[in-house]
Amino acid sequence: MTRLSVERLGQIRTDWTLDEVRSLLDLPFADLLFHAQRVHREHFDPNEVQVSTLLSIKTGACPEDCAYCPQSVRYDTGIEREALLDVETVLEHARAARESGATRFCMGAAYRNPKKHQIAAVAEMIRGVRALGLETCATLGMLEPEQAEALKAAGLDYYNHNLDTSPEYYDKIITTRTYQDRLDTLQAVRDAGIKVCCGGILGMGESKADRAGLLHSLATLPQHPDSVPINQLVQVAGTPLFGAAPLDPLDFVRTIAVARILMPKAHVRLSAGRSEMSDELQALCFLAGANSIFYGDKLLTTGNPEEDADRQLFARLGIRPEAAVPATDTATPVLHARHECGSPNHVDHRGRG
Ligand code: SF4
Repeated sequence: MTRLSVERLGQIRTDWTLDEVRSLLDLPFADLLFHAQRVHREHFDPNEVQVSTLLSIKTGACPEDCAYCPQSVRYDTGIEREALLDVETVLEHARAARESGATRFCMGAAYRNPKKHQIAAVAEMIRGVRALGLETCATLGMLEPEQAEALKAAGLDYYNHNLDTSPEYYDKIITTRTYQDRLDTLQAVRDAGIKVCCGGILGMGESKADRAGLLHSLATLPQHPDSVPINQLVQVAGTPLFGAAPLDPLDFVRTIAVARILMPKAHVRLSAGRSEMSDELQALCFLAGANSIFYGDKLLTTGNPEEDADRQLFARLGIRPEAAVPATDTATPVLHARHECGSPNHVDHRGRG
């Protein structure tokens, strides 16, 4: 391996160079998966996968122009706009998710940035979901520091906000907010003491250099994200990225593997696009170090593999759902969650960018 010290792989570092990231992406596939698997085993049980559930609490009519997103008001995608759900409706979903075995409940809203009354409403949801014994996660768009603090005070455990792609490719995908806007929100979330969920989307026409740039940006944040969702674009008719050239599946696996090596303690989440992946491709992703999925039949507005298919795949691979640390009580993790958390083009995404 050139320009890269094999001995240092597995160390927790935020000083990765772009050159190192590119060298990892260029490794022969077998070598890359070997190193990723080795690093994975240093920090995780390789046969456990964390499972999250997600509920879209406010869908559509987003003023942003994310080129992948069917929730943007700028694109005619047939998505029905829905107002913010009321608290009791959200708690009904959360109870059902808990009864199905979910341990974390993620609430996503298609906002550019939430208003004061919206933060208050979501804070009430967070308190209610937490009182059910579930971990809480939210993705609401850009946050000001005081908004992050209010969500933390309500008991929010995780906040999702993705970088989406490299700094260089970013303006091909979004023009209504800057990369720095995203970094500022991530800083506010970290400063409030909320765990960070942050990743990106592949298959948007980006180059290998852009995938390296995204990974480098994530791995050189002041602290590594706790969760890193790696999404494969789910193409939706009516969005600008509909018809984009598909990504080589092995390049998706490579990106997962490099994320695992760069951020050894993060949960790397196989997120949006999973419904379009074969069992064999998903198995390769787990081998490359992915250890989190969104579970359920819907990721905000795009499809997700049937739950039974997930259970069967886990059984075939000998994978167990990872036990989460519930916010207050109960919740035994079993593969029965109805929605999932996570996010992306999907999941987190769609809305929260
Ligand atoms: S990804 Fe989020 S911010 Fe972007 S258009 Fe969709 S809902 Fe809006």
